[in-house]
Amino acid sequence: MFDKILIANRGEIALRVIRAAREMGIASVAVHSTADADAMHVRMADESVCIGPPQGTSSYLSIPAIISACEITGAQAIHPGYGFLSENANFVQIVEDHDLTFIGPTAQHIRTMGDKITAKDTMKELGVPCVPGSDGGVPDLETAKKVGEEIGYPVIIKATAGGGGKGMKVAQTADDMEMAFRTARAEGKSNFGNDEVYIEKYLTTPRHIEIQVFGDGKGKAVHLGERDCSLQRRHQKVFEEAPGPSISAEERAKIGKVCADAVAKIDYIGAGTIEFLYENGEFYFIEMNTRLQVEHPVTEAIFGVDLVREQIRVAEGLPMSFGQDDLVINGHAIEVRINAEKLPNFAPCPGKITQYHAPGGLGVRMDSALYDGYSIPPYYDSLIGKLIVHGRDRNEAIARLSRALGELIVDGVDTTVPLFDALLAEPDVQTGNYNIHWLERWLDDNM
Ligand code: ADP
Repeated sequence: MFDKILIANRGEIALRVIRAAREMGIASVAVHSTADADAMHVRMADESVCIGPPQGTSSYLSIPAIISACEITGAQAIHPGYGFLSENANFVQIVEDHDLTFIGPTAQHIRTMGDKITAKDTMKELGVPCVPGSDGGVPDLETAKKVGEEIGYPVIIKATAGGGGKGMKVAQTADDMEMAFRTARAEGKSNFGNDEVYIEKYLTTPRHIEIQVFGDGKGKAVHLGERDCSLQRRHQKVFEEAPGPSISAEERAKIGKVCADAVAKIDYIGAGTIEFLYENGEFYFIEMNTRLQVEHPVTEAIFGVDLVREQIRVAEGLPMSFGQDDLVINGHAIEVRINAEKLPNFAPCPGKITQYHAPGGLGVRMDSALYDGYSIPPYYDSLIGKLIVHGRDRNEAIARLSRALGELIVDGVDTTVPLFDALLAEPDVQTGNYNIHWLERWLDDNM
C-alpha cells in the first residue's frame, strides 16, 4: 500500500488527486514551478517541492526534477493528472525504472494508443467499429488524393501524434486537399515532432460520444457508460454531460460491452476513454485517451464512484471495488469548463482574482484551485474551474446549472461564464439537440 504519492500536475486536477489520497489516508506531495509557489495545490498538499521555473517544459514536464522530488520526499507513486506527462510512455518507463509506481496504464498501452494509426489498427482488431479512412499512414499528396477519391469528400487529414484539437484539417473537396494535407503535416511536425498523417471520412452531423472504461490490469474491465461532449469549439470540449441525451440503454450496453471487452483483452489498467463519433445510430472510433479526463466528474456523479480512488487502488494491485452489475446510472450530470478567457475571441485572460465565491447546494460540485487574491499565471492552460451539477433528470440538471452559475462569483478576470448563461437559454441546448458543429455555428451567429 502507498503511504505517500506525488502529484505531477497543478490546478484543479492536482486538488482532485490530493483529496482522494487524503480520504484514503495517503500523504500527498505537490510539485510546483516558481510561478505556482502560492498555488492552492501547494497549500493543500502535505508537502511540496519546487521543481523549476515557470515554463512547463522546465518544471511540470521536467522528468528528472519530478523523479528527484519523489526520491527526496519518499513518495512511492506518481499520479500524472491529465495533460503534461500523463500520456508520455517514456516518462512511465523512467518511473518504473526508478522502482516507483505510475498511477495509470503501462508504457505499452500509452504508446499503442498515443499513435492514432496504431490505436485504430488495434481497435479494429479488437472488434471496435472505426471511421472509414485510409489504411494507415498516407505518405504523400498523390496517395492522399487517391484516398480522397476512394472514400469521398469531405475528408479530414489527421496527424497520427495529434491531440488537443491540433494537427487536424478538413478538405471539403479535392481542391482543398493539397493545402489541408500540407498544413496537417506541418502542425504534426511542429506540435508533436511527427509529420505522419492519415485520412478519415469527415462526418458532417455526428455527436461526440465517449465511453469511460476501467481495467484492473489482469484481464478484467468494466464500462461506465458514455459522456456526450458534442459542444466543442475548435475541436475542444466546453460542455459535457452524462448520460448522452441521444443514447438508449440498449445502445449503451452494446457499445459499452464492446469497449470493456476490448480493454480487458489487452489487460488495460486504470481509467481510459474510448472516443467515438456517433451518427445515424452508428458508432465510429476516433481515438483512445489513456488518462483520467477533464470531464470524468459527470461519470462519477451518475454512478456514485470515485475514479481517482479507483486508479490508486488498482495501481496498488488491489481489485476494482465494483463490477459491471454494480454500476447503475442515477440521474443526469453536466459539467461546464470555466476558462479565464475573454469573449468573443476566447483570448486567455490571466490576472488577479479580486473575489471568488463558489456555488453550492444540492447536486453542485465545483472543482477549482481559485481563491480570493490568487493570481492566475500566464504560463499554463486557461481552465480555472469545472462546475458539475447532478439532478434526477436532464431538466433538473439544466435548471441546477443555471442556478449554480448565478451563484458563482469570479471577479478580476474575464471568464467563459457568460457563454454558458447564453447557451442555457438556447432551446437546442435545453433539449440536447446538437452535434459537434452546433457550437461553432452558434458562435459565428451570436458572438
Ligand atoms: P484530439 O486528439 O486532438 O482531441 P480527436 O481525434 O479526438 O482529436 O478529435 C477531436 C474532435 O475533432 C472530435 O470530437 C470531432 O469534433 C472532430 N473530429 C475528429 N475526427 C473527425 C471526423 N472523422 N469527422 C468529423 N469530425 C471529426
